[in-house]
Amino acid sequence: MIEHWGLRGELRRLPGERDENYLVDGRHVLKISRDSRALLEAQTRVLDRLASTGLTQEVVATLRGERLVECEDGRLARVLTYLPGQPFADVPTASLRSVGAALARIDAALDGYDEPAFRRDFYWDLERAPTVVTEPRMLAVYAAEVAPRLDGLRRGLIHGDANEHNLLVGPDERVTGVLDFGDMVWSRVVYDPAIAAAYAMRMAGDPLDVVIEVIAAYHERFPLSEDELAVVYPLACLRLCHSAAVAAIQQARDPSNAYLGVSQEWIRRVLPVALAVDPAAARERLHAACGKADTLHRRRVLIAPSLSLSYADPLKIVRGEGAYLFDEAGRRYLDCVNNVAHVGHGNPRVLAALAEQAAVLNTNTRYLHDTLVDYAQALVERLPEPLCVCLFMCSGSEANDLALRIARTVTGRREVIVLEGAYHGNTQAGIDVSPYKYRGRGGAGRPDWVREAPMPDPYRGRFRGPDSGPAYAREVERLVASPAAFICEPLMSCAGQIEPPPGFLPSAFAAVRTVGGLCIADEVQVGFGRVGDAFWGFETQGVVPDIVTLGKPIGNGHPMAAVITTREIADAFANGMEYMSTFGGNPVSCAVGLAVLRELDERALQENARIVGAHLLAGLRAIESPFVGDARGRGLFVGVELMRDGAPAPDVADRVVNRLRSEGVLISADGPDGNVIKIKPPLVFSRENADELVERLRAALE
Ligand code: PMP
Repeated sequence: MIEHWGLRGELRRLPGERDENYLVDGRHVLKISRDSRALLEAQTRVLDRLASTGLTQEVVATLRGERLVECEDGRLARVLTYLPGQPFADVPTASLRSVGAALARIDAALDGYDEPAFRRDFYWDLERAPTVVTEPRMLAVYAAEVAPRLDGLRRGLIHGDANEHNLLVGPDERVTGVLDFGDMVWSRVVYDPAIAAAYAMRMAGDPLDVVIEVIAAYHERFPLSEDELAVVYPLACLRLCHSAAVAAIQQARDPSNAYLGVSQEWIRRVLPVALAVDPAAARERLHAACGKADTLHRRRVLIAPSLSLSYADPLKIVRGEGAYLFDEAGRRYLDCVNNVAHVGHGNPRVLAALAEQAAVLNTNTRYLHDTLVDYAQALVERLPEPLCVCLFMCSGSEANDLALRIARTVTGRREVIVLEGAYHGNTQAGIDVSPYKYRGRGGAGRPDWVREAPMPDPYRGRFRGPDSGPAYAREVERLVASPAAFICEPLMSCAGQIEPPPGFLPSAFAAVRTVGGLCIADEVQVGFGRVGDAFWGFETQGVVPDIVTLGKPIGNGHPMAAVITTREIADAFANGMEYMSTFGGNPVSCAVGLAVLRELDERALQENARIVGAHLLAGLRAIESPFVGDARGRGLFVGVELMRDGAPAPDVADRVVNRLRSEGVLISADGPDGNVIKIKPPLVFSRENADELVERLRAALE
């Protein structure tokens, strides 16, 4: 003792499950462990880290002197400072909130920290409980409540054993110390507070009330997600069942070790009461106690149910910056899907332009204003001849609606040709020309004035391979009778990130024009440099449309949209009926639009899309996974089609999307079969962002 730690004194044996523990001189604890050196060294680093974050002495013990000393029998010894206080088990009036608070401080300090040694198969890992627990009611609750949410539960390094003997209570009845880091494991973060709450149930009272007090205090310091809160009560019950099951196994092996049965008597008493609580009621009360359900609940009451929420565990995003979004707990998410924030979330230049103009004037297009013509000029300069006349509105849907109306007015016809799987907007006309909607759930089917051409998908469509463009164009030609218009996205988004094979649009446009129809390019998703090689999607096919519709990225989140057409068509549309949009083309929107274009130019974001997009696609194509059927795209418009045994795998896509969300990366899945991972991040996306996405996707697919 003197040689290694400078200590002298009589040793007094303390209780312990696996370690031999001795009190030395009243102020230190000698621990002799059977655990491997790797595990103990990792534990040492964790304690040092906790000490470095200011938890020293307040919550956890610190190591003294030599870290690890090998005993004659090969076991490893170390000395920790002795934390004063009474075991939680002996203080019936101890503060339950202080249990949650103390553990949250530890878990917050460990957030983002990893020790490979703790990525282990460990019998006390709650993840393993369902394989040893036999209690039928518990297993039923687990299957209904926990299993479906498992993928959404964050992983992390946890203490893993905040039981009633590992918590020390001070004179003020608050938890002052947490002992025993020997059960640390890389598992689900929520297991830690669930385990603490489980053992706190010993302290009488209603089990659910006890759990709520512990968890609410934990959540205050280290917020839990909606899913984590939903499962924490069943998990607390699961820990009691787990403890009972492990104790039964161990006692059968070693009947003489009294410590093993230390919790069993009260668990037998409390468990039936705990399991009698309705899981849905527990979930609701936990959500309410943690202020989590408030927004969701109010949304359900106040907002129409046809609006959907992303993810099994909805996100509450409160802030954005560049390619990142932040939730209310300050957690950062890499945004790989919100193409609207084209020049980055919270872009300062766009914000300044908006604020400056809004402070001076916002009116409508019935007055002269330079921003309107400046902006129209800036747009027209980026478009090929003869596209030179603009109309403004507030959404992509309105833009397509107007484009269809223009085509019908100008041609005097009604019929419209669309592509299978396409989406063009939420107005009545938008839905009418969107197979994605009218064939989808709740859809009324194809209107008689709409013709549908096959989706030009060279990977899984009717014709395959890079030379299939003309074959798809012939299908459009076959449908041509006397159309007002052919509307299409030059690269299809909702349809599953599909780039038509070369030659498709030139032949299709020619066929439509031969019979007097107009060609509308919906650039709402793909315009403004996203595809990297070109500023507009239609340029990748070498065509010039008659009408172009713009939206989404045009205002970086400010609601604006545009239709741009030829002088001839614009004049023919001016048949006496005024086109008026109260908000379209207002000075604030035009100032925003100009700022977006300047930002694109000055930061060379189209070039960034080209370079980072190519790097991203190469990374995606290098993923070796039987699930990756096809990785495709241009610039920062990319798709990964997931397949299993030659069939679409929407279940895999769904799991991947939710798993990446739990790891802080946002993507989505789309396409007629829901099996295409959509990637269309803000154009400020960096190489490092691309590498992170590829790495997470690779890991998830494993
Ligand atoms: N066109 C395309 C191709 C779209 O993807 C969308 C929106 N997803 C729209 C039009 C409609 O745009 P908004 O929702 O802004 O009205």
